[in-house]
Amino acid sequence: MDIKLQQVSYAYSMGTPFEKFALFDVDLTIPSKTYQAIIGHTGSGKSTILQHFNGLLKPSKGQVHIGERVIEAGKKAKELKPIRQKVGIVFQFPEHQLFEETVLKDIMFGPMNFGVSEQEAEQRARELIKLVGLPEGVLNKSPFDLSGGQMRRVAIAGVLAMDPEVIVLDEPTAGLDPRGQREIMDMFYQLHKERGLTTILVTHSMEDAARYADNIAIMHEGHCVLSGTPREIFADGKTLENYRLELPHIVRFQQKIEAMLNQKLSKICLTEEE
Ligand code: ADP
Repeated sequence: MDIKLQQVSYAYSMGTPFEKFALFDVDLTIPSKTYQAIIGHTGSGKSTILQHFNGLLKPSKGQVHIGERVIEAGKKAKELKPIRQKVGIVFQFPEHQLFEETVLKDIMFGPMNFGVSEQEAEQRARELIKLVGLPEGVLNKSPFDLSGGQMRRVAIAGVLAMDPEVIVLDEPTAGLDPRGQREIMDMFYQLHKERGLTTILVTHSMEDAARYADNIAIMHEGHCVLSGTPREIFADGKTLENYRLELPHIVRFQQKIEAMLNQKLSKICLTEEE
């Protein structure tokens, strides 16, 4: 399922004195089964774009194509429901959305709401809890008795339980320690590879973008100013500097990026210890 943004503009409070354009004529194509990173400073429009991938926001102008379906101004909520099932969003601090009595019920909630049988939903939960790296015994616990990192994994299992074709990650490692960050990012990468999940990562981290993504788009003041492979994007430090994206030690960083790009990612994921 390819995703295509065509000339997408978005204004908050459109038509009021508070009208504020956050996206301007954004064009972006994300082919099926690829890993796309979207990077940019705070306020560049990343969260606004992210909410267009499953119709939480509809473009003020332009169109978002999700496979055969189109999201545009005026679309009814009912027409967007099938898109919500296909595109899962892991918001920042997804553990804040946990609410059920047990982990099992929490993971089953989404699919059962979308008409999946209880038996099938439970089977998915049992499979997914292992996939996110937690023991099956956790299923009978209250999510609120778990650690922050464990809660996040449960919340991620809840998104995966919808069996999405596309997963959108909004700074998925915010607030985790470096080891937890790496484990979660590697987990998403394995999922992307093994299940062919189209993955869209919205992040501040140029390092994660370079390490995991096939393609990177840079957002700047509501415009998609640059898009290409990590090698193309990081080839020229000057280009990044133009968008104030340089890191303090750009040369050292570029050497590191180069080393990462020259290694097979699967190898990094399986062997590198940090
Ligand atoms: P990012 O995710 O890159 O930090 P956002 O998409 O949140 O950027 O914001 C893009 C622009 O839209 C910013 O100028 C921000 O102030 C503005 N904005 C975001 N949310 C709202 C809102 N609910 N109402 C008005 N303006 C908003």
